Amino acid sequence: MADDKTTDSSAQGDANDANARVQALIKYVKIKEKPVELTGEIKVPCIKPNSFIDVKPQLLTAIEPLQRLGYPIGGLVPNWKEVFLKKMDEILKKYRSVKLFLDICVRCGACTDKCHYFIGTADPNNMPVARAELMRKVYRRYFTWQGKLLGSKFVNGSDLSEELLAMWYTYFYQCSECRRCAVFCPSGIDTAEITMAAREILNSVGLVQKYMHEIIDKAQNIGNNLGMQQNAIVNALEFVQDELQETTEIPDIRIPIDEEGADVLFVTPSADFFASPHIESLYGYAKVFHQAGISWTMSTHASEGGNFGMFVHNYGNMKKINKRIWEAARDLKVKRVIGGECGHMWRVLSSYSNTMFGPFDWLDSRYPRPQHICEFTLDLLNRGALKIDKTANDEFVVTMHDSCQVARGLEMGGTKYGQFEIPRGVIRGVCNRFEDMPENTIKERTFCCGAGQGLLGDDMIATRVKGAIPRMQAYSYAKREKGVNFVALICAICKAQLSKMFPTYGIAMEEVGGIHQLVGRAIVLGAKEGI
Ligand code: SF4
Ligand code: SF4
Ligand code: SF4
Repeated sequence: MADDKTTDSSAQGDANDANARVQALIKYVKIKEKPVELTGEIKVPCIKPNSFIDVKPQLLTAIEPLQRLGYPIGGLVPNWKEVFLKKMDEILKKYRSVKLFLDICVRCGACTDKCHYFIGTADPNNMPVARAELMRKVYRRYFTWQGKLLGSKFVNGSDLSEELLAMWYTYFYQCSECRRCAVFCPSGIDTAEITMAAREILNSVGLVQKYMHEIIDKAQNIGNNLGMQQNAIVNALEFVQDELQETTEIPDIRIPIDEEGADVLFVTPSADFFASPHIESLYGYAKVFHQAGISWTMSTHASEGGNFGMFVHNYGNMKKINKRIWEAARDLKVKRVIGGECGHMWRVLSSYSNTMFGPFDWLDSRYPRPQHICEFTLDLLNRGALKIDKTANDEFVVTMHDSCQVARGLEMGGTKYGQFEIPRGVIRGVCNRFEDMPENTIKERTFCCGAGQGLLGDDMIATRVKGAIPRMQAYSYAKREKGVNFVALICAICKAQLSKMFPTYGIAMEEVGGIHQLVGRAIVLGAKEGI
């Protein structure tokens, strides 16, 4: 018995040591980064090894959210190596794409200079191939017969260690899962999938990032990312409705809530309820529905369109959040579902909903898939169903930032390249002056805003400032060469990030806004033409 106790306590001591070592290695340090000069050029930097190794997000340590999400409490679990390999094995078996991506990289280097975080930080660990290599080394060591038999040095693998865990926690949280690297990879390797899998493995051993998981917890358990209770949502939307009625002087323009039998269930990020500039798009949506004469409703149960569950490989989280939308659609007996301006919301709604909860054969057969608000608005514009005064936007020369989760998601409107052309069609339909940014920074080759997929927290400000560089340079080029002075977006995270980065880089925050902000300005209310 005495021997057993000694073994137990020494094993416990090792576990405590491992946890302490890892906590020290990933300790959050507030790091400030300066913006660069805007020249309009996107340059591939000379590498600076480990230049961003100290930038890590804060850990979630609060017990209740960790328990609700089903993750360990107290940091690194004692048997972490076993848990790590079990979770990785599960992922490799369940998501064949991850295994394939680990197997087929030919080290061609085509992706090395394509990531905004590498361009911004010059840290070679932010090259997509190097980021994925962190997982490939473990894969080769533990999941190939050569690695199992001969050990890590014969397969250029890595044994599991606290140092390796810290590298994972650092660099898989310097990836916004934007998938730009995948566009240029001749093998079609999607590093975002590898990042999602890595984050899920980190969660399983007890290293859970704070910002993203606090939001997932609120969305699952309260119903929206901001943690607003139902009465607060009703109050916020009533306030928006009052403002609308007062500013438009139209007493019957509404933001309907929980109205059974409406034609449309409209879902949007909760940031649209009051954040700036997001709320301007909410005014725009309401004006479009009002003018089209289509009955619509928002839902207190599905009060969040955004779905942070997509940012890790645990589809359970994503499903739980998405489920509220389908429950609301059934309960309110709507005929169709339309989504507002949000990048990852659109990707989940358009790409994953059907697999998770479909087929939606109980919806109007003309709209079996959720629609994007831009699809809906462009159709009305094309049919002449909205009276528009484009001169209302004449103070702007508008450009568009393609949000990655839309641009590299499924096509919009069932048409090839619809995700590029439909939003641009709406902008052109309500503005006289539109200019694109340089070709290598838009559409399928768009650069992330620098804060996607769980990196929008203040703890990641250094990464945000550096990751925004390609977009800021492209915008400044368009500003200088084409007189652009407004960037229109359809992603809530991009709006939040760019409206912070613009002033950081010396550009007015007011130059950022939603596409439906422009629609809302140009629409002539009360005129019923051609419906
Ligand atoms: S998915 Fe985006 S952020 Fe991640 S490595 Fe590729 S380019 Fe970089
Ligand atoms: S482009 Fe694709 S194949 Fe080439 S190094 Fe990058 S991930 Fe590997
Ligand atoms: S925040 Fe916007 S630009 Fe960045 S990854 Fe998400 S959709 Fe893309």
